[in-house]
This record gives sequence, C-alpha cells and structure tokens, in this order.
Amino acid sequence: MLDTLDHGTSQETPTAFDAIIVGSGFAGLYMLHKLRQLGLRARIIEAGSGPGGTWYWNRYPGARCDVVSMEYSYQFSAELQQEWHWSERYATQPEILRYVNHVAERFDLLRDITFNTRVTAARFDEETGRWHINVEPGAELTARYCIMATGCLSSANMPAIPGVARFSGPTYHTGHWPHAGVDFTGRRVGIIGTGSSALQSIPLIAEQAAHLTVFQRTATYSIPARNAPLEAAQEARIKADYAAMRAHNWQQPFGVDFQQRTDSALTSPAAEREREFEARWQRGTLGFLAAFGDLLTDSAANELAAEFIRNKIRTIVKDPVVAETLVPRQVVGCKRLCLDTNYYETFNRTNVTLVDVNAAPIREITAAGLHAGDTAYQFDCLVFATGFDAMTGALDKIDIRGRQGLALKEKWQAGPRMYLGLATAGFPNLFTISGPGSPSVLSNMLPTIEQHVEWITDCIVHVEASQHRFIEALPAAEDAWVEHVNAVAHTTLYPHCNSWYLGANIPGKPRLFMPYIGVPPYVEKCRAVAANGYEGFALTP
Ligand code: FAD
Ligand code: NAP
Repeated sequence: MLDTLDHGTSQETPTAFDAIIVGSGFAGLYMLHKLRQLGLRARIIEAGSGPGGTWYWNRYPGARCDVVSMEYSYQFSAELQQEWHWSERYATQPEILRYVNHVAERFDLLRDITFNTRVTAARFDEETGRWHINVEPGAELTARYCIMATGCLSSANMPAIPGVARFSGPTYHTGHWPHAGVDFTGRRVGIIGTGSSALQSIPLIAEQAAHLTVFQRTATYSIPARNAPLEAAQEARIKADYAAMRAHNWQQPFGVDFQQRTDSALTSPAAEREREFEARWQRGTLGFLAAFGDLLTDSAANELAAEFIRNKIRTIVKDPVVAETLVPRQVVGCKRLCLDTNYYETFNRTNVTLVDVNAAPIREITAAGLHAGDTAYQFDCLVFATGFDAMTGALDKIDIRGRQGLALKEKWQAGPRMYLGLATAGFPNLFTISGPGSPSVLSNMLPTIEQHVEWITDCIVHVEASQHRFIEALPAAEDAWVEHVNAVAHTTLYPHCNSWYLGANIPGKPRLFMPYIGVPPYVEKCRAVAANGYEGFALTP
C-alpha cells in the first residue's frame, strides 16, 4: 500500500485511491487484478452496468470475434486457460461476455468496480501530485495513478445525417445494441454501413426482416469465417502446451498465428499463388493477407490478392450489377479485412437491396425512412453500423487536464501524441492501455492488452520502489515515437485509403496513422525502455 494514501472522508464511500482505472473491458479488468496483487487500492469506474466493454455493448446479431477464441483470450492465468472451454472456433458475443463475467467472478473483481458511472473529467493537481477524477453521477475521486482503459472502439460514431431525430421508428447503433435484442420479423429495415459490424449482422437481419436495404459507401473485402464448433482434438493439442502457442504468437507481426509467409506474391508462380490464396480462403482466416510477405507493402502484390477476392465476389453474387457494386476497389487490408458468414450470399436474396450511396447519396432521414438520390425509402427501423471514433474518441469525451491545466484535447489538436501509446508528455502518472502509437487494433488485442497492463504494473512498481512521485513521458521521446509510428506505417499500404486507423472516418478529425505496426519490435522496445531505467520518461523525485 502506498504511504501517501488518504482513504477519504468516509469509510462507506471512499474517494481516495492509489489508482483509478476507467473502463471494465478486458484491459480494465486485468489492470485491476494486477494492481490489487501489488496491494494497491484500485477501483474501476465503468459507464456500463456490467463488465466486458466491447462485448458488453456490441450485442448486435452475429457479433463474434474474428481472431480464433483459443488465441483471443487471456493468457495471464494458466489455470484459467485450462479451465475455460470455447464452444466455437470464433466465439459469439454472448459466449465472450460469459467468459468476461467468469473472469470477473473468478478473480473477485466485481467488488472494486463502480458500474453505471461515467468519468467526465480528470485533472492533475501539481501540488498534491494526485489526479482529481469527476464521475457522473457522483462526486470527485482522487488517485495517484489514473489509467485509461477506455477502449479503442468504444465511442460510437453517429453520422450527422440531417433529420435523424425525425425518424418515427426505432434506431439502433451496433455499438449500443439493446440488451433484450431486436426482433426484425416482418419489418422493413435500413442499415447504413458495410464494415465488420454490418457484415456480421446483415445476413442475420436479412433472415428475419421483411426487407433489408443496405446503404454502402465503401465496398468491403471479406473472407468466409468458416466458423464451426471447436474440435476437441485441436483444443486438447493447444491445451497440452498452451504456453508454446502463446510464445510462438509473440513472434508474429500481429501477435496471432496467421502463418505468415515471407516470399513475394509477385515472384511466386501464378498457379502456386492461386493455390495459396484459395487455401486461405477455404481456411477462413484474417491470415489471408499473410499469404505472401509483400501483400501489405507492394501495390502490385496487393492487387493480386484484391483481384482474387473480387473474383470470388463475382462468383458468389448472381446479379452482375450487384456484384460489381459489392466489389471493392481500394487496396485490400488498408481498411480492416473482415470475416463473414454468408455476407456476399445475402445479396442473392430477394428481400435484400443494395444501395451505393456514392451514386445515390443519403440526403436526409425522414419520419418514414430516408431519401437517397432520387428515391424515398420507407423503413420500420434503422440500423447504424457506422463504426467508432476510434482510438481517441473515448479519451476526447473526458476533459483530461495535465500540468498547468493543459487539456489533452488541445495537446492532440493535430492528432494524438503518445510515447509508446502508454503515456503522453505533460500528464504525469496517467497511462493509457492500447493508446495511439501501440499495436492495439493492428494486433490480437488480448495479448497486447496484457502486455500493456504488465508494463504499466512494472512501471508503477519501479516508481514506488525508487520513491519517485511521478513518471511522465519526455516530449522528445514522444515526438520521435510519433514520427517512428508514421514512418513505419508509410513503408506499408495501410495509409493508402480513408480508414479509421487514420481518423478518416470522422469529419474534421486530424489524419495521423494511429496504431503501431509490428508486435515483436514494439514489445522489444517496451522491454528495452524499462530495462534502461524507463528511457524517454522523466521521474520526479
Ligand atoms: P473496451 O472493451 O472497449 O472497454 C472500454 C470500457 O471503457 C467500456 O466498457 C466503456 O464503457 C468504458 N468507458 C469508456 N469511457 C468511459 C468513461 N468516460 N467513463 C466510464 N467508463 C468508460 N479485437 C480483437 O483482437 N479480435 C477480435 O476479434 C475483435 N473483435 C471485435 C468486435 C467488435 C464488435 C468490436 C467493436 C471490437 C472488436 N475487437 C477485436 C477490438 C476490441 O475492442 C478489443 O479486442 C478489446 O475487447 C478491447 O478491450 P478494452 O478493455 O481495451 O476496451
Ligand atoms: P467500420 O469498420 O468503421 O464501418 C463503418 C461503416 O459505416 C463503413 O462501411 C463506413 O463507410 C460506413 N459509414 C460511416 N459513416 C457513414 C455515412 N455517413 N454514410 C454512409 N456510410 C457510412 O465500423 P465497424 O463495422 O463497427 O467496425 C469497427 C472495427 O471494430 C472493425 O474494423 C474491427 O476492428 C472491429 N470489429 C471487429 C469485428 C469482428 O469481426 N470481430 C466485428 C465488428 C467490429 P466508409 O468505409 O466509407 O467509411
């Protein structure tokens, strides 16, 4: 326990903590577990009414992970890994949420979480060296450490289409889905967006709805998930040496076993190339893009992979006009590749219509539906599968102020600036899990969340043991890191389209490539920084 701790004014409602963690997704839960192991008095503040973050909020039909569950799961507890049984290769949202709740109960985390409470502001007091954290409803809490586990994809993006409030039926955002579910039976449904959330939900909504109209702005590349019950033999094989699989994955570019090949698609004989693409299409994995070493770095190589998927779409979709509308033109992978179950097939149904909003822009939402191009569409309900203000959205919603009252939003006017995606200069003892500048969304997020949590824990141990008051990133280290993140990104094709990785999905958001590409070099950099006495950070005695 820290010496400096003031336990607040009342025994029943403590307001002073060693650490406040914002968010109870996978990141916040593990952070709480680790800090409690240190004997720190830590508390999570969570806006939702239960733990799970992404898997608490995104309850739309078809929601499931697209990294295999045996890998998209915690590895910090060997017992947990052995005990838990995933029923499917890619678990559904309800199953992942059951897992989250199991973890929360197994490690007795719930008693230190305040649900239904939103953090609205966090202000660093230079005199006391404490963070003052305002919560709604509630009072002001204080803590020596403030850890933002607020999520990369937790701030839903509602497009500013004129007339949204006028629509007479219910509207749903995939990222805020009603807990009771939605019955679309017999209803005329409009859905805006064709990203991962839309691709998962469209086939299931189409099965129920009287008619489904899909409004597409950018066509999406997707690989069939080929989801299936998890094979007992495969589970047993992995569980026989789970640690070996995890160790292998830490050496992989995205922290997941995509069976990365390193040879060039361009020099591979055409028949071999086709065989490899086909094998990966049949396997059902995001590792389609790991088929060759240059698919994400060389436009000509990328075009070969893109054309393979385009031809699959042309084969699956019977109406050639609809097929061509569904065929993406951009670089494959620069927007996130998707996995689906019967997405393209769904456009063969007679109760599904595809509208290209580039040809027929959505002009306004009306009481009865919406106007796109010259057509007035009538709907009973509208689904927004329009994504998130990614990576910075949840942080921007909190009024975070560091030294001399500097607002984080002001500091980040030209785009987020962080050292390693873990800390930002001028904001002592403030950490971010999966912050901009870390592999985060370009990785299997569970392992990289754990790596962040463990790094932050070690850092706090170091600050305490060396009897420092604060640790904070140095501006020069931060600038060099931001430059490096972007330099690495620009050796790839990722910045070649208007993706949310660049902030391009949010009007007015500055364009800066946010995630760091490459798990192994990133983990090594974090290790070296700590080993060299927290190089690039200032420690205040
Ligand atoms: P989150 O799970 O987003 O949790 C953040 C929490 O913080 C939320 O509960 C939120 O309510 C809370 N919060 C935010 N701001 C405040 C505030 N001001 N006050 C109080 N509480 C606040 N990643 C993968 O690697 N593989 C996948 O297959 C995969 N599938 C995904 C599917 C969907 C539908 C989505 C949206 C994302 C997916 N992701 C996937 C990414 C996913 O977000 C991460 O894997 C992971 O769940 C993030 O955990 P987290 O704890 O960092 O954040
Ligand atoms: P997304 O990928 O950002 O997709 C949003 C969609 O809405 C895009 O098609 C976008 O078009 C469209 N859109 C946004 N505003 C629009 C407007 N004003 N008019 C018309 N169309 C508009 O969001 P998401 O599908 O929720 O996925 C976000 C991320 O979450 C994913 O990339 C992935 O990392 C994660 N996720 C994973 C899974 C999974 O399979 N495990 C499932 C869901 C989400 P543009 O492309 O033209 O911007």
